[in-house]
Amino acid sequence: MKGRKLLMIPGPIEFEPDVLQAMSMATTSHVAPDFIEAFGNSLECMRKVWKSPAGQPFIVAGTGTLAMDMAIVNLIEPADNVLVISSGYFGKRFEDILSRYGANTTVLEAGVGEAVSLDAIEEALKTKPYKALTMTHVDTSTGVLLDPKPIAKLAKKYNVLSILDGVCSVAGEELQQDKWEIDVVLTASQKAVGVPPGLALLMVSERAMQVWENRKTPVCNYYADFSNWLPIMKAYEARKPSYFGTPAVNLVIALETSLKIICNEGIDNRIKRHQQLASAFRAAIEALHLDILPKSNKLAANTLTAVFYPKGIDGAALRSKIAQSNVIIAGGLLSDIKNSYFRIGHMGSVSANDLLAVLGALERALIELEHPVAYGKSLEVFQQELLKNS
Ligand SMILES: *Cc1c(COP(=O)(O)O)cnc(C)c1O
Repeated sequence: MKGRKLLMIPGPIEFEPDVLQAMSMATTSHVAPDFIEAFGNSLECMRKVWKSPAGQPFIVAGTGTLAMDMAIVNLIEPADNVLVISSGYFGKRFEDILSRYGANTTVLEAGVGEAVSLDAIEEALKTKPYKALTMTHVDTSTGVLLDPKPIAKLAKKYNVLSILDGVCSVAGEELQQDKWEIDVVLTASQKAVGVPPGLALLMVSERAMQVWENRKTPVCNYYADFSNWLPIMKAYEARKPSYFGTPAVNLVIALETSLKIICNEGIDNRIKRHQQLASAFRAAIEALHLDILPKSNKLAANTLTAVFYPKGIDGAALRSKIAQSNVIIAGGLLSDIKNSYFRIGHMGSVSANDLLAVLGALERALIELEHPVAYGKSLEVFQQELLKNS
């Protein structure tokens, strides 16, 4: 039997065959006309996916953490006040990065499975002049989805830059960067954008680019400095050769391929597919009497689901049984409760078939571990929900 595994973790994800094929092409020069075209197309296509016709896109070799690092190091100067709105592990990462660059951080930390309230955010914004606030659209450690709209509105009201970590949301959750007036929306290739790991992607508003231009101190990170990358992005978009650091040629070709797939499906259709599959999946999980981390469905992400292990079930044993069915899911990430839950990624090219396979493997594993579940119950509910919404 073919050892075909289904990768259902919140990144890296299953990639489209065309994207993988693009990865395996003969590497060209970074100034070859075809490559310049692919890079330029990718930058233009990003604006459609982010819904940011006015934004400045950046494509840089690195991971999502580099994208976070770039946003902070370019916009924040030592002693700037920054408000960190955290709903889990990746919210705290912003705090670490900000502290490293000498910012004064104030952290608003949500309870597990919750989001920080707008009142708490406004209270904090009233206390002192902040330069920026950071927020996590989907915190991959908890599966909590934030509504960035009203937070960005508050940021605007208090004249504060808004920085959104969209690593687990861009191309999977609703986003209208320009309309919602978010200054930076960043992501990485290996999540809902659907390209193997290795690219940091950012979209920066005109306002934020001005803040960067008016800095008083130099950007204290050479590789991440917009000064080095902005001319490169502008050159590729003008279809002109340029060089600062060698771009990840094959990854950029793969990015162009994936962004085209996304735009062909239509970004709105794609978001709707994520919402419908995620909501049917949550209903199926509920039918197994399992609890999810987010305190309500409204707070639940459409790109992944975080689920508590049922009482009496050994998490490692459950995950290993599921892995024996060739379905790969992820364990917990939030340190305090790491061993009490698991996570299933459902973003990018995810289909109903993939989630049926996950539910089948999960049911079998629970039954083998003598946890009482009715055969086929979650599959039945999943199918019913999908048909109801189709
Ligand atoms: C994965 C992830 C990151 C980190 O991305 P890397 O590519 O692993 O550096 C940051 N934020 C969120 C929300 C993520 O899901």
